[in-house]
Amino acid sequence: MLYQRSSQLFADAEKVIPGGVNSPVRAFKGVGGTPIFVKEAKGAYLFDEDNNKLIDYINSWGPMILGHAFEPVVNAVIEKAKKGTSFGMPTELETEIASLAVSMVPNIDKIRFVNSGTEACMSAIRLARGYTKKDKIIKFSGCYHGHSDSFLIAAGSGLSTFGIPNSPGVTQGTAKDTLLANYNDVENVKALFEANKNEIAAIIIEPVAGNMGCIPPKEGFLNSLRQICDENNALLIFDEVMTGFRLSKGGAQELYNIKADIVCFGKVIGGGLPVGAFAARNEIMNYLAPIGPVYQAGTLSGNPLAMAAGKAMLEALNNDAEIFNRLEEKTAYLEKGIRKVLNDNQIDFTINRVGSMISVHFDKNPVFDFNSAKNGDNETFKKFFHGLLKEGVYIAPSAYETWFITDALTYEDLDFTINAINKVAKEL
Ligand SMILES: *Cc1c(COP(=O)(O)O)cnc(C)c1O
Repeated sequence: MLYQRSSQLFADAEKVIPGGVNSPVRAFKGVGGTPIFVKEAKGAYLFDEDNNKLIDYINSWGPMILGHAFEPVVNAVIEKAKKGTSFGMPTELETEIASLAVSMVPNIDKIRFVNSGTEACMSAIRLARGYTKKDKIIKFSGCYHGHSDSFLIAAGSGLSTFGIPNSPGVTQGTAKDTLLANYNDVENVKALFEANKNEIAAIIIEPVAGNMGCIPPKEGFLNSLRQICDENNALLIFDEVMTGFRLSKGGAQELYNIKADIVCFGKVIGGGLPVGAFAARNEIMNYLAPIGPVYQAGTLSGNPLAMAAGKAMLEALNNDAEIFNRLEEKTAYLEKGIRKVLNDNQIDFTINRVGSMISVHFDKNPVFDFNSAKNGDNETFKKFFHGLLKEGVYIAPSAYETWFITDALTYEDLDFTINAINKVAKEL
């Protein structure tokens, strides 16, 4: 495949945009080469500026769970746009999507919409700190909760890709209130609570980690966190920006039957427009301005185009009783196919999968936390990535990313992908 025009466009972009991109992982630093510029997309396919057709396994990092240019979403946006794109005043549509989200997700009474997953997580911890009147939070190494200061500490994919353990610009003052624990390590969390008595406001976690590849919670891990939070008057925050409306209608809370205190959303909830949200039961959400003391705001929050897209997306998911089963079946089929061809080609690998989140690590040992995720063979991954690209299959340009399966994929697409992996595996 040729990437002449993409390369030229990238060179042009680099002159006026830092690194040529508006979000670092897009720059291909983790795999080498120059990024592909997209012209358009439909269903399971991307069409780039050189007119290559690619099967897409990123799907905008999750949102396009029903495929690109999904008609109900596109139409909802077009119809809304004709009636004005922003008012900074309340609209009925906001109540409609809020009611729908509250009806789909367990343990939440109210939801506040923001413009990104970053904003959702940032607001959630401010709320947790205000509500508990404590300052410290626990996050897990390799989990990503957006790019706000408190979270840029061992923050998974984007940062791991570049080997920046921490970002300059995050002050010591901020960093000291973020305590780090190892994913799937209950004893580690207990020790942190022991060492910081009555100081911890919340644990924030990706209930299925997706930013160091896909890492499922070990049996009982989330339950233990729930218990530890209850014992210590701390809140349990599920960052479901990735898992929400993907693993089930009610996200990971429903899948694992665990009650979180605050839940963060992004990605799917916006149907491909910039939307995030955070939600909780009444007593916590009523702590927010304008009825409570914790301030949080946004000029474009609840934007009509974004809400129209999100509502059309949630309705499509809510009205399709089989959607999450179908996604599970397609992803399981892909997993089985990949396992077979990698085994046949005697490649060392570990595949982790939960529902429609799946990742391939080039290491034969189990991957259950950030350290084990880092053991993967990056050189093999690079070859794998570029090999697949040549075959017309686009996976994330980093060994630390999850693949997001979309319902637009057909079994022919999956077979094509498995065949492509077989070809590529012979060259690894
Ligand atoms: C993507 C992601 C975020 C950040 O969302 P943005 O919309 O990129 O700001 C936060 N948490 C998790 C788990 C994510 O996957």
